[in-house]
Amino acid sequence: MKKTALAYFLRFYQNAWKEIILWTGILVLQSALALPVAWLVKYTFDSAILENQATFIILAGLGVAGLQIFGNVLLLCARSGMVKLNKTATASMREDILRSLYRLSRAFYAETDWSKLQTNVMLEMERVDRLGELVLSQLFPAAITILGLIIYLIYLNPVLFLILALVSPLLWILNRFTTKNMNQVLEHLREATRIYNQGLQSIIQLIDLTRIQTAEEMELQKQQAGIKNLAKASVSWAWTRNSHSLAQETLIMLAMVVILVGGGWLVTNGQMTLGGLVAFYAGVALIRGPLQTLSGNIPQAVEGLQAVQIMHDLRFNPNVEPYTGARAVIVDQGITFESVSFQYKDKIILKDLSLRLEPGVLTSVVGPNGSGKSTLTYLLLGFYRPQGGRLLAGDVPYDEIAMRSLRQQIAVIPQDPMIFSGTIWENITYGDPNPAPEAVQEALSQASALDFIQELPAGLNTCVGEKGMRLSGGQRQKLAIARALLRKPRVLILDEPTNHLDQESTEKIIRLLQASPAPLTTLLITHDPVLAREADRIFTLDEGQLQIAELDEAWPASQLMEEELQPDLEPVPKPSFSTN
Ligand code: ATP
Ligand code: MG
Repeated sequence: MKKTALAYFLRFYQNAWKEIILWTGILVLQSALALPVAWLVKYTFDSAILENQATFIILAGLGVAGLQIFGNVLLLCARSGMVKLNKTATASMREDILRSLYRLSRAFYAETDWSKLQTNVMLEMERVDRLGELVLSQLFPAAITILGLIIYLIYLNPVLFLILALVSPLLWILNRFTTKNMNQVLEHLREATRIYNQGLQSIIQLIDLTRIQTAEEMELQKQQAGIKNLAKASVSWAWTRNSHSLAQETLIMLAMVVILVGGGWLVTNGQMTLGGLVAFYAGVALIRGPLQTLSGNIPQAVEGLQAVQIMHDLRFNPNVEPYTGARAVIVDQGITFESVSFQYKDKIILKDLSLRLEPGVLTSVVGPNGSGKSTLTYLLLGFYRPQGGRLLAGDVPYDEIAMRSLRQQIAVIPQDPMIFSGTIWENITYGDPNPAPEAVQEALSQASALDFIQELPAGLNTCVGEKGMRLSGGQRQKLAIARALLRKPRVLILDEPTNHLDQESTEKIIRLLQASPAPLTTLLITHDPVLAREADRIFTLDEGQLQIAELDEAWPASQLMEEELQPDLEPVPKPSFSTN
């Protein structure tokens, strides 16, 4: 793991340093309790038993029990304190990660596998959370207890401690070896989980298409390999964890044997009392628990550290939004495309294109599918930066502008209406903190949406289902139109606004465009000649360039349709379907 990733993770614990010191102090106190315990055990065996001090023996027993209970209460307090501060830290990290999703560019999202992204943000963040909790409430207390007990063992007998320490390189070697192996096994498990998740998402998302294409079996078969792979990866992971903890146990057993032999030898040589050896044994028995906590949790820690790296890489992904200006603008002087050239990777879309969208002017762009009309709108919204030329709002170049300030004044009726699962009200007022009910009514009326909403039992509070599944295509489009109009924008972009609308609703949109307030800058993209006729200027976009167009020139398609209606045309042969 890179240091920067660790630094990013630790950043969220900075504010909690006082609490960390407090709980660490309590942990140190808790492990210091081992010393009076040691003294009591040693004295009991060396003197009290031999001298028949029955009362002392009972009191020593009570003392040891009392100290242990007190120590555990301290440990409990420290652990819960650490858990609480960890939750606060990971909550702010989660927020930071979510916020960072808005930093990333549209190009990033176009190139990213969304299911992988979702899995990462969900699963990996959970692992990061667990890592913090593990370190603070388990590993850290265990390490301090071990340290305390080591001091205790050295105090009891340094020679025996040295003999015991000879076993520790084995522990170190074991941990190094297994951690390396764990990294690989975990990678496989992660990939398998991701593929399984992706499969699940694809089943849900494609539910209609799969049924229509009767592709259920094909889809399930496709997922079978993923399920098998996940099972295999989980088995490897369980095996790695188990073998690690078994090796651990064996080493601890070995340490016990070393103490028995080494300690026995020291007692026979008179270099240690029997009480000392018993107390030493007690100390090693006490160390066993925290030691197991420490090294038994290595798999989870490795998993957590990998997750920190993944979260860090997402948070600092360089593929960010293209404009970083900070200037607020008022977009009342239109938008200018100045010799704009644009390409997606190698695919050239616009070549040295200039276009001025003026306030009070309805500009229409027509052109074949894939010619780059929607791309024009993405450039206008600042989703992409052109490789050549520039855009300006009024006379301010986009490079200087804070995009949020620009976008607040633009409304878009996109080609895909972008309806989300929620109520109609939530969909229309999305992004508006204080929507006025009268304004919503007006926007709905302008978008011809009132009638169908009034017929719904729950009216504006009707839930529309995932992606607006419970609405018709035209109804979804009407909601998108109402959402845009409610914004009272200075710039209005309409990308195929009527492709789902019936004639009556289309006519209403036309009247709306005719009556639109004078300073509105409007860009209308459409394949509908009737709608385009409303424009003050019409351009054709083809081969990456704009041409001023007369309506008839712009519509070879409509002429074609008329020709198709001519009865003297040859009938088109019907495609033949094989039946089986
Ligand atoms: P339509 O009339 O079908 O809506 P359009 O004129 O709006 O077409 P665009 O959506 O602008 O066309 O797309 C222009 C071209 O750019 C298309 O060939 C498309 O395949 C390609 N394209 C669009 N988005 C991307 C992207 N993110 N990465 C790569 N290529 C893209
Ligand atoms: Mg388009």
